[in-house]
Amino acid sequence: MSKAVKILGLLGHQVDYSLSPLLHNTAIDHLGLNYYYTIFNIASSEELEDVLNGMRAMGIAGFNVTIPYKERVIKYLDQLSPAASEIQAVNTILNQDGQLIGHNTDSYGFSEPLQTHEKLIKGGHVAIFGNGGAARAAIHALRSYFEPASIHIISRTVQRGEELKKDMLRQSTRITIDVHQQEDPETFELLKTCTLVVNATPLGTKKTGHSASSADAQTLIPDDMKLWTPQHIIYDLVYNPFYTPFLIQAREQGATVINGIGMLIAQASQSFKLWTGHDMPLFNVKHAIIKRLENNLI
Ligand code: NAP
Repeated sequence: MSKAVKILGLLGHQVDYSLSPLLHNTAIDHLGLNYYYTIFNIASSEELEDVLNGMRAMGIAGFNVTIPYKERVIKYLDQLSPAASEIQAVNTILNQDGQLIGHNTDSYGFSEPLQTHEKLIKGGHVAIFGNGGAARAAIHALRSYFEPASIHIISRTVQRGEELKKDMLRQSTRITIDVHQQEDPETFELLKTCTLVVNATPLGTKKTGHSASSADAQTLIPDDMKLWTPQHIIYDLVYNPFYTPFLIQAREQGATVINGIGMLIAQASQSFKLWTGHDMPLFNVKHAIIKRLENNLI
């Protein structure tokens, strides 16, 4: 008799474009594990309580959580890891004998592709577009592993940026954090002085079908603006497409560019280890993703 398959999945809203099923199912197949990873598109945050009670009732082994539920899911969990508690955002839920434990592997995932640039970032200035869950994880990672002199949150909703700043300074005052309005001309001048500039908004994401919108074509920096030089590191957390308009623009101006694929794989590998106890076979997973991108199927 075959054993019941353990279910893993992604909770998000209109996230059919996600590469997470490909990542995790490739690793599962390669290791011959008895798991299956799928997508659960949740219509609204009002459904979250039922979803998580369902997770307990049906013994679903684990979830990833993505846009827009990383913060809203917290109140339905039994426990948070230290990183999730500091960041106040959860991207991984582990069902441990009916106890739902929230983790955040985005902080580790964010830091992984930056390791080779550690010396440049230490003591430099960093700017982050966005004030959501990914921005929180980025600030946590920068503070924990890279020690920049200052972090500038660039926000279209300054009030939410200020809330993020307050939350982050409550955890630690070891760092200087400022908030700036995204469209303010002075913000563009400030960006020139930053060693590392991060896009932690969904701007630039290629969506398909019903979720495609005119926002896909928007860019963070006007096309005619020349802000970047070879001294800048431009990091886009968006991974679909491989090179976003933000990265193409920066690459054309000579900056070092990093896309979201490295973070995607690094955060997934830590989630996979939490759920299954196994190391993710990174070579096979990277190969599967490159193949999918080459086939232009996302
Ligand atoms: P989130 O919590 O929903 O936050 C989204 C942020 O983007 C908010 O600050 C929001 O600003 C801002 N934003 C949304 N639309 C915008 C627009 N048109 N112009 C300017 N700002 C806009 O989402 P998240 O979890 O932080 O994720 C953000 C992005 O990072 C997503 O694209 C996600 O796919 C990506 N990400 C990638 C990885 C990876 O592994 N590569 C991991 C995590 C996240 P307001 O407050 O003004 O609404």
